[in-house]
Parts: sequence; structure tokens; C-alpha cells
Amino acid sequence: MPEIQYTCISCPMGCPLTLTVGDDGALTVSGNSCKRGENYAKEEYSAPKRVITATVACSAPEFPRIPVKTATPLPKPMVADLLKELKNVHLSLPVAVGDVVIKNFNGSGVNIVVTRSCQ
Ligand code: SF4
Repeated sequence: MPEIQYTCISCPMGCPLTLTVGDDGALTVSGNSCKRGENYAKEEYSAPKRVITATVACSAPEFPRIPVKTATPLPKPMVADLLKELKNVHLSLPVAVGDVVIKNFNGSGVNIVVTRSCQ
């Protein structure tokens, strides 16, 4: 049975996780100290997601780059396309924390939002 090692990043303890894929496809997790670790390993195996932080261009000389992030984790296969898309984003001031820069990126349901207010 294949085993995959992960480190849980759901809290600072960083438990070492072992995910085992059974012959019937069933997933079992060991090494976790709580249920969150089990959920993390299973999701990382079957549908990994990432919170992405980046910056986008701004027309204001005093703030040439504005920090942004995904409001919720984005499916990992979509990350490269998002980073490409962010190169085409140009903001104008003012912007506030939480302003949506891209809504529902590529149908993922994930918004890209500003993380620093600038005016
Ligand atoms: S398994 Fe639980 S205790 Fe361990 S790192 Fe993950 S969230 Fe923290």
C-alpha cells in the first residue's frame, strides 16, 4: 500500500503525517494529534489547495505595488494561472483591505482581495 508523508501545517505543532492509500482507494492517516491533521492529509492528497499572497501594480507612485491574497484557499492546479493573471491587474487608489481585485477567479469561487489599505 502506497504511503505518503506530509507535515501538517494546520497549527504550529507541525505533526508528521503518514497517509496510506488502501487497495480499495480508502485513505487512512496516522501521526496526527487531532482531526484537523487527518483532514489536511486527505485534502492534500485528493484536492490540494493553497492560500496565495502576491502583489499587483498600482498607478500611484508612492504605492507601486499593492499586496493581495486569495480570500480562501485556491485549488493548487490553478495557482500558475492566477499568478499570470495578477500581472495584468493595475489598481488605482484608494484601496481598502478586503476590496475584491478578482471575483470568482476562473470559476473557482475564490476571490482575490487587497490586504493593505492605501490612499
Ligand atoms: S494534526 Fe492537529 S495538532 Fe498536529 S499539527 Fe495538525 S492541527 Fe496541529
